[in-house]
Amino acid sequence: MLKIITHPNSILRQTARELTSEEILSQKIKKLIEEMTETMLKNNGIGLAAPQVGQSIRLIAINSEKEIIAFINPKIIKKSWRKNIEEEGCLSIPGVFLPVKRHNSVTMEFLNLAGEKQILKAKNLLARVLQHEIDHLDGILFIDKAEKN
Ligand code: ZN
Repeated sequence: MLKIITHPNSILRQTARELTSEEILSQKIKKLIEEMTETMLKNNGIGLAAPQVGQSIRLIAINSEKEIIAFINPKIIKKSWRKNIEEEGCLSIPGVFLPVKRHNSVTMEFLNLAGEKQILKAKNLLARVLQHEIDHLDGILFIDKAEKN
């Protein structure tokens, strides 16, 4: 199992770099995704971004209801105008839960494990988790965006 980096740590504040097509097809990345998945599940997480395990690369793993999905070089290409506020937590900030405003739905473009371009429209919880995890790739934590009372 991988060690989860906790706040404050400068790795969590870096802008992660994109993976090359060569890297995507490498055994090293396959192994990292397997280890990230295991780490996420053991910690009861629903999403994990590579910077949270010390790798400053644009890769996230999501535990959706049906399956585990790895998103490589993910980009939000469309977001709903509507937003909603829900409480969030983060494996890198244990014990902290705060309300965060997010878009209701987002359309994502990303590469799968075979390096093929995929488009996914996500709504509700999946949309929220994706926005949270993509923020990690840009060095943003949910506490930065938490609603102030
Ligand atoms: Zn997080």
